[in-house]
Amino acid sequence: MKVVIVGAGPAGLITALNLTKKGIKPLVLEKNRELKSTACAEGCSLIWLNKVPFDSKPYIAKKVSGAKIIFSGGAVDHIPRACAVLDRTRWLNGIAREVELNGGEVRLNSAVVAVDKDHLRLKNGNHLAYTTLIDASGPNSIAAKYLGIKYQYITASQYRLAANTSNMNELEFYLDKKFSYGYAWIFPKNGVINVGLGGDFALLDDFLRYRGLDSYPIIDRGVGIIPASGIQQLVEANIALIGDAASMPNPLSMGGLAPIICASRILVENINNLANYQREIKRHPIANPILLEAARNLVKLTEPDIAHIGRFLSEIKPGTGRSPSLNRIAKYPRLVLKLNQLKTLYQAGRIAVDYGW
Ligand SMILES: Cc1cc2nc3c(=O)[nH]c(=O)nc-3n(C[C@H](O)[C@H](O)[C@H](O)COP(=O)(O)OP(=O)(O)OC[C@H]3O[C@@H](n4cnc5c(N)ncnc54)[C@H](O)[C@@H]3O)c2cc1C
Repeated sequence: MKVVIVGAGPAGLITALNLTKKGIKPLVLEKNRELKSTACAEGCSLIWLNKVPFDSKPYIAKKVSGAKIIFSGGAVDHIPRACAVLDRTRWLNGIAREVELNGGEVRLNSAVVAVDKDHLRLKNGNHLAYTTLIDASGPNSIAAKYLGIKYQYITASQYRLAANTSNMNELEFYLDKKFSYGYAWIFPKNGVINVGLGGDFALLDDFLRYRGLDSYPIIDRGVGIIPASGIQQLVEANIALIGDAASMPNPLSMGGLAPIICASRILVENINNLANYQREIKRHPIANPILLEAARNLVKLTEPDIAHIGRFLSEIKPGTGRSPSLNRIAKYPRLVLKLNQLKTLYQAGRIAVDYGW
């Protein structure tokens, strides 16, 4: 069995590592001359990170105790779920080394330019035969193109800023329509913060001014696209898609790492029966259509709606459950009209917390 993986990002490398643990030695083809992270806030829940069969600890820049949601209007909600903010480039290089120690191969400078049913064409003109192809080539997936699968995307912009992070113990998510149709984030690393949002740099600059971060030294800036269509087709004959190539990021939280870790295990368990991989993922919470519905609802909410949701959540006594019901939101008339949307957001939010952000 010759398993070839296109792309040495998290999806390709984690899948390669899981395959080596099963005794399969894959070949990973990466177009770049070195392994490096794409634009990413680098956050991943610890529960999922610990499921990668690799010691990720040396690559964690900072551990935080959970996430803090800051709503327009100022209300704050806390989600106690331990997370890591990674040094993602070093982490990827560490996993690649482990893949090679276990007998796999990671070949750099090897762009795949065309996919066919049993072979690939590389940029250098060579052809490469495969029995199973795993496409992990990210949002501009080469196999999705070959199979005619199309996604919608959102654009996300991010700065890395030098900052003192010693007092920061949570990921911060800002739900505020002034800055983003989705959310803005501040993730602390070691002496660095990743600050970004769904939207462009003009909005991000406004957000920096609002948060008083506009004088912090910029280390670098990055922009990326995130497939936001939810999970669709994953398999065709001997080709399987994973990660951004399969539009796996959670449509509500836009987190892509936890769904990759989760899906990679299922893919490797079913490597000899790819149809089963697709079947299992389709009935898994990471593919629940409610996530897409909730993401669309979030975009439709107005700034006053968000302010009211924040107040509603901040007034709930801890331990009494948080689901929205007519009784509980009766004192927020504008939310009563949106009860169904809120229920969807609540259910999807729970999935997003359990399966990463
Ligand atoms: C600004 C931003 C912030 C984000 N923050 C977070 C976060 O905090 N937490 C989280 O969980 N998710 C986050 N995400 C999403 C997350 O980064 C992605 O879901 C994740 O990187 C997807 O991994 P992947 O391996 O599928 O694709 P990628 O990371 O895109 O890797 C694909 C790899 O394939 C290679 N490649 C592409 N085409 C070819 C080809 N033709 N031949 C050979 N190689 C090829 C690329 O060079 C790359 O190395 C963020 C995304 C953005 C844009």
